[in-house]
Formats: sequence, C-alpha cells, structure tokens
Amino acid sequence: MAKQRVLLTGGAGYIGSHTYLALVDAGHEVTILDSFANARQSVIDRLGRIIGTEVDVIEADVRDAHALGAAFAAGRFDAVVHFAALKAVSESVEKPLDYFDVNIGGLTTLLRVMDAHDCRRLVFSSSATVYGVPDETPTPETAEFRGMNPYGQTKIMGEQILNWLSASDPRWAIGILRYFNPAGAHGSAMIGEDPRDIPNNLMPFISKVAKGELPKISVFGDDYDTPDGTGVRDYIHVEDLARGHVLSLARLFESGEGHLVNLGTGRGYSVLEVIAAYKRASNRDLAYEIAPRRPGDVPIYVAAAGKAADVLGFRTEKTLDEMCASSWAWISGPHSGGTD
Ligand code: UDP
Repeated sequence: MAKQRVLLTGGAGYIGSHTYLALVDAGHEVTILDSFANARQSVIDRLGRIIGTEVDVIEADVRDAHALGAAFAAGRFDAVVHFAALKAVSESVEKPLDYFDVNIGGLTTLLRVMDAHDCRRLVFSSSATVYGVPDETPTPETAEFRGMNPYGQTKIMGEQILNWLSASDPRWAIGILRYFNPAGAHGSAMIGEDPRDIPNNLMPFISKVAKGELPKISVFGDDYDTPDGTGVRDYIHVEDLARGHVLSLARLFESGEGHLVNLGTGRGYSVLEVIAAYKRASNRDLAYEIAPRRPGDVPIYVAAAGKAADVLGFRTEKTLDEMCASSWAWISGPHSGGTD
C-alpha cells in the first residue's frame, strides 16, 4: 500500500500508541497530536526507542482550531486517525458537558480543519457502547443505536455527524470502527494501558491486583443471564485492534468510500474466565469478591466479526491468554507506572 502522511490524534494514549506503531510498521509517515490530558509524555520517548527514530509529535488539544490549522499547514496530511476523546462512562454521567465538548466539539473542529485543507480521509474510533443493550448477540453492525450514557451518546452522535458529512460531499471517505474491549499490551512491554487513577475497566484493574497495587477485584454481579452469571465481553488484543486501523486506512484509499465495522474477535469471555486467564499468565493469586452489579452495565457484548473480515480482510490473531501475558509483561516490567 502507498505511503500516506497520517495525523494521529490521541496518539499517545493506549490504543493510539499501539496504532502509531502499526502505522509506522506499515510504512506510513505519522505525526501524533495529543494534549497529554490523559497520557504520559514518556510514551513518546518509549515509542521512539521502539521504532529507532524520533517521533513527530505536536502537543495540542483537538478543540484548538488554530493549532490544528497550523499542524495541517505544516504536515499536509493525507488522512487522519482520530482517537483524541474522553472515554470513561461514569465520568461522562458526572460531567456530560466535558464529553460533548471534547468528543463532539473536538470532532467538528477537526472536520472543519480537514475540509479546509482538502484532507477527507478519516478513521474514527467508535465503540460497541453505541449498541446499548443489544437485542442480538453476537451483535451485527445493523443493530440499532441505543445511547445509555453521555459517553455512548457522543459516539452515536459522532457517527451520525460523519454519516451526514459523507452524504453531503462524496469526497469524504470515513472508516468508522466500533471497538469491543481492547486488552493486552505491545510485545516489547514498553507501552500498554497505564491509567493514573484506579482503573474503571476490568483488565487494567486485574493487572494492578496482580502487581499488588490494589487488594482485590470486585466482580460486578454474578446473576446475569450468562453461563457463569458474570458479564461477558469480547476482548480484543490491542495489537490486533491497531492492525484494524491500518487495514481501514488502506481500504479508504483503495475504494474512495467509507465503511462501518465492528472490531472484535467474535468470541466472549466472562469476568471469571478473564480472572482465571490472568492468574495463569501472571502466576499470582488474584483475590476477588462478588460485588453488586455496576449501574448501567450490559450483560453481554460480543461482536459479529464477519463484516470486518469481508470489508477489511480483518481477522484477529491473538488469544485471551496472549492478552493477559502481554498485559502482565508490561505492568510488571520497568516501563509502566511512571510519574510523568
Ligand atoms: N468488571 C468487573 N469488575 C471491575 C471492572 C469491570 O467485574 O472492576 C466487569 C464489568 O461488569 C463487565 C466486564 O468486567 O462485565 C468488562 O468491564 P469493562 O469496564 O472493562 O468494560 P465495559 O463494561 O465498558 O465493556
């Protein structure tokens, strides 16, 4: 595939940093734009050490039209992969304006600047959360939108904005990727998920218990209508997920048209199965207790993975055991948990 100049917003974050490496590996020229509101500066050094050259990075907020304009004027980008957004469900309920401001305001600001600079190829991070509580599992892309919280609503609105924009001007080609549950870390163990606060998500929470930084896992509900009563999710290795973005970008340039796909494995694991897998990978005892259901939680999210295979040729390669092993190598290694 031809080399493209790509602007990667949110490229210092968890999925963004792994996608950076996948894009560079595929031969693209990538500039990261990140505000570092929820990412560490040291990620950039570590990315540089992995690829063996300096990383091109701009510190800016996606809501800053002036900074974006300057980046486009200097970078002449062919495409944007847009990660920069807020993503914590419970925080979105407490601070809805922040979520609409960053996730919607940031998106429309970016789109305007892209349009002004004749750059109309975009890969957009969406989420399985747009399905709310789906009627069908595995869930196909045709399932209806169901917003359950401000975060989910921003992903629905983001997709709708992009659909209206594509309908208004055929020069746009936009790939919308609905992620299921990303997990694991890069094979180098130099980058991974590294929340500064107590993690909301299961996998990083388990990793901190394994490391001894948190005492025990709370399993949120064991009375769901699932095989063992605990919540089931489609965990996807972050390196597989990152590769999905490279394929999406390639498809946009080949076809000149947009696409909408789930990125998941098509297979679900329960909370207890994930804990058991992490125990095997880390060789640590993992204390857990059954706790009440978490408000707003969905019993099962599993992707129908066929469309991503058909449209992008995307198939996941890595197993849950590999997600746990790479997560453990990262979290128990020297590069996680910095103070910057
Ligand atoms: N979960 C849990 N304890 C935790 C965090 C999550 O039991 O400390 C459960 C949660 O109820 C869900 C699954 O793990 O069934 C995945 O939750 P996560 O927050 O990682 O992803 P999401 O709910 O956004 O899919």
